[in-house]
Amino acid sequence: SASSQTFTEELPQGSFQVLKVALPSPLRRLFDYLPAHPAPPCGWQAGLRVRVPFGRREVVGVIVALTTGSELPRSKLRAISDVLDDAPLPSDWQWLCHFTARYYQHSLGDTMQLAMPARLRQGHSMAGRTQTLWLPLETHDESSLQRAPKQAELYALLRQHPHGLAGRAISAHGFTRDQLLALQKKGFVRAEEIILTAPKASSGSLLASPSLPLNREQAAALAVLHEKLDSYHPCLLEGVTGSGKTEIYLQLIEALAAKGKQSLVLVPEIGLTPQTLARFRSRFRVPVVALHSGLTDPERLDVWEAAANGRALVIIGTRSAIFTPLANPGAIIVDEEHDGSYKQHDGLRYHARDLAVARANYHNIPLLLGSATPSFESLQQALSGTYRHLRLTQRPSRHPPAKLELIDLRHQRRQGGLLPGAIKAIQSTLNAGKQVLVFINRRGFAPTLACHSCGWIAECHQCDSRMTLHRQPPLLACHHCDSRRALPDACPKCGSGDLRALGSGTERTEETLQGLFPNVTVHRIDRDSTRKKESFEQILKEIQRGEPCLLVGTQMLAKGHHLPHVTLVVVVNADGGLYAADFRALEHSAQLLEQVAGRAGRAAHPGRVLVQTLHPDDPHLGQLAEHGYSVLARSLLEERRVAKLPPFCFMALLRLESPKEDEVLALAQQAAQALRQWLTEACIPVRCLGPVPAPMERRQNRYHLHIMLAADKRSHRHAAANWLVQWLEANREARKVRWSIDIDPQTL
Ligand code: ADP
Ligand code: ZN
Ligand code: ZN
Repeated sequence: SASSQTFTEELPQGSFQVLKVALPSPLRRLFDYLPAHPAPPCGWQAGLRVRVPFGRREVVGVIVALTTGSELPRSKLRAISDVLDDAPLPSDWQWLCHFTARYYQHSLGDTMQLAMPARLRQGHSMAGRTQTLWLPLETHDESSLQRAPKQAELYALLRQHPHGLAGRAISAHGFTRDQLLALQKKGFVRAEEIILTAPKASSGSLLASPSLPLNREQAAALAVLHEKLDSYHPCLLEGVTGSGKTEIYLQLIEALAAKGKQSLVLVPEIGLTPQTLARFRSRFRVPVVALHSGLTDPERLDVWEAAANGRALVIIGTRSAIFTPLANPGAIIVDEEHDGSYKQHDGLRYHARDLAVARANYHNIPLLLGSATPSFESLQQALSGTYRHLRLTQRPSRHPPAKLELIDLRHQRRQGGLLPGAIKAIQSTLNAGKQVLVFINRRGFAPTLACHSCGWIAECHQCDSRMTLHRQPPLLACHHCDSRRALPDACPKCGSGDLRALGSGTERTEETLQGLFPNVTVHRIDRDSTRKKESFEQILKEIQRGEPCLLVGTQMLAKGHHLPHVTLVVVVNADGGLYAADFRALEHSAQLLEQVAGRAGRAAHPGRVLVQTLHPDDPHLGQLAEHGYSVLARSLLEERRVAKLPPFCFMALLRLESPKEDEVLALAQQAAQALRQWLTEACIPVRCLGPVPAPMERRQNRYHLHIMLAADKRSHRHAAANWLVQWLEANREARKVRWSIDIDPQTL
C-alpha cells in the first residue's frame, strides 16, 4: 500500500516528482500534481489533504501516492495550491477507504469524501474545538477582594468547582467577564484551554453505575469473548429480543476500556435514540461519544477528532460511523446486525456490517455481531464455524417471547383491516390496563383508490405503480417517486362518483380504532406522522408512562424500542414477503415479524402476538409461528444452499436507467454480451443474468434494467464486476445512461 512513503533519495536524472491525488470525482482514477514549494514540514506523504486546481475550481483532495513521472508531460501538470494538514489523516482510515473503494468498485476520491466529516471535506483543520476553563488558585491574601464583593463572590463560586468552570457557566451565574479578568490579574484564577469533546477522563473508576450480575447464558457468552480480547475474534451473538445482548456489549466495552482501548458500536438508524445513548452514558465514566444525524458539522468533526486521538473510548453511531478512525481500537460491535439500514442504497453502496468485519480483521480485534434475527450471511458463518456462535435463549424477565398466533383473513369481514377476533383481543387488553401495538406496513389511508362502476384504478403517471390514498391531508401520493395529485371527485374514465378506497393503511386503521375505542388515545407512528424531529421522541415518552393506549405504526415502531407496557401485538397483514420475487423477501419479512413480536411482553407481563394472514397454511409462516425465527432461518438457509443463492454465492448487480427505453436496453445488451464473451475467454466461472427489467421497470419516467452477476467465489465476482465497470467507463454510449454497480446487493 502507498501509506506514508516519502521521497528520501535523490531522483534519477530527468525524472520529476509527482503526487497522485484522490479527488471528489466519480471517475475511478487518481490525478497527477506537482508538489508545491516548500514541502510541508512532515514531508510529502500519502494521507495529507491538499487543495488543488481542478478545471476552473479548487477542490480538496487527499494525496494517495508519490511517484516519479507521469503519463502527462511535466508542462501539462499543475501544482498543489495548499497543504491542509501537518500530519497525514489516520492510517486506519486511509486503509479503510482503499479497501472500500476497491471492494465496492467505487472511485477512491468519492469514497474518501464520503468517509470524512464535512468540515474536512471543506478544507477546515482537523483540530477539535476548545473552550476556556477558569480554575481557582489557592491564595493566602484575600484582603484585596474586600472592596470587590462581586469578585469575592465569584472566587467563592469557583472554589466550589475545583475542576473549573466554562465562561458560559460563569456568566449564567450572573458574573461579568471584567470581574473574571480582574480576578485573573490579582492571581486568584487561571485560565486553561481544554478540548470540548471527550476531554481527558478523570482518573478513578471506569464505571458510573455497576454492571448487572449476568445470568448463566450471558456469563458463558462473555467468557468466550474474554478468551480473545487481543486478536481478531468474530462472534455472532444470537439472542432473542430482550435477552440481554446490550448488557454483554456493555461488559465487553468495559473490559476493553480497562485496557485503555476504544470500542466502536454501530446501531441501526432507528436504534440511536436518546434512551440508547443514555444507557451507555449512565454506565461509563469514560467519554462516550455519538455520531448521529442530529449533529452539526463542527460537532461531528469534534467526535471524529476525539476518536482519532484516542480520547473517546466508546463511539456509538449509525452506518457511516464505520469510517471513524480509532487510535487504540479495542472492538467493533454491530447491534441488530441484520438491519437494512447498514446498507447504503445509493452512491457508494457499502454495507457497514461487512466493512466492520474487514476492519476488525485489519485491526486484529474482536468483532461482535448481535441480533435476535441474524442475517443469513452471518448465521451461515456461525453455523460453519467461521464465527463463534453465542446464544441467549432466555429473557431476564423470564417471559419467553410470545408465539405467533396465525388468524385467517379469508372470508371474514374486517374493520380497518382488523378481524373481529383481533378487535376483541384489543378490547380485553385495554380493559386490563395494558397497551396494544398494531403493526401495519403501509402508510396512508388506503393503498388503492378504485372506481366501483368501471374498475379504473388511480395509477402513478410516472411509475408502474398505484397511487396511495392519503386523508391527512387528502391527496393521492406515489410512494415510489413522491409525486402527488389532488383527489378526483369523480372517476376520470367513466365519470361515476362511486370511488372507493381499497385496503387499509395506517391512517385508516387509526381512524377505525379511534371509532371503536373513543376513550383511548391512539398514537399513529409512521413517516408522515413523525416528520417533525421531536414528535416521535415525545410519543415514545408518553407511551413509556404506561397509560392504556393504542399504537398504530409501521416498522418505525417495530424495531428496537423498549415498550414495557405493550402486551398485545397485532400484525394486520403478514403476507407482504411470502410470495415476492426477491429471494431475500422472506428472510426480511421473517426478521420483521419476529422483531415486531418481540415488542410484546418485554417487561413484567407476558405477551400475545396475533398475525392476520391470507395464507395460514403457508409452510414458512407456520414454521415461524411454531418454532421461531432461528428454526425457520436454518431451513431457509438450506433452500438457499440448494438454489446456490447468497450466502452460498457472491452477487453483483448492475443497474442501468434512462428516460429512453431503447437507449438503456441497447447499452445493457451490449454490456452483457461483452462481459459474457470476456468471461468465456478468460475462463472465469461467473453467471451473468440479464439484462432484465427491474421489478418496477418504469420509475419516475425512467426505464430501469438489471444485469446480475453470481459466482461461487468472491474473487471471481470481483473480477467480473471490475471488468464490467471498466468497460462502461471506457464506453462513450454509456455516458448517456445512468448506471451503478451494487456489490452484495440486498434488494433488487
Ligand atoms: P437485548 O439487547 O437483547 O434486546 P437488553 O440488554 O435490552 O436486551 O435487556 C432487556 C432487559 O433486561 C433490560 O431491561 C435489561 O436491563 C435487562 N437485563 C439484561 N441483562 C440482565 C441481567 N443479567 N439481570 C437483570 N436484568 C437484565
Ligand atoms: Zn369509472
Ligand atoms: Zn410514481
